[in-house]
Amino acid sequence: MMKISEPKVKNKDTRQYRLQETRLQEKLGDGTTRCHLCSWRCRLRHGQRGFCQAHVNRNGTLYNLSYGIISAIDISPIEEKPVKCQPENADQHS
Ligand code: SF4
Repeated sequence: MMKISEPKVKNKDTRQYRLQETRLQEKLGDGTTRCHLCSWRCRLRHGQRGFCQAHVNRNGTLYNLSYGIISAIDISPIEEKPVKCQPENADQHS
């Protein structure tokens, strides 16, 4: 039986909640921030979250609420995936 080893992570407690300052933010001076991560370009006051609900303005700085949190995982082997390494009738495509 195949043994799955522990992932190597620096912070062992992955349940720990932490705020990570959002990259590509623009501080607008009056305590609001503009996020430039996607085309919504949310402008947020203190306490507001972006359209994605993943970024929040806290005292004039934008923070990411989901940084480092796994959003999806799949343990099935790659052999089950519908990957075709060689097209059928390869000679017709050349
Ligand atoms: S939706 Fe989220 S990522 Fe996009 S601009 Fe707004 S806060 Fe930033």
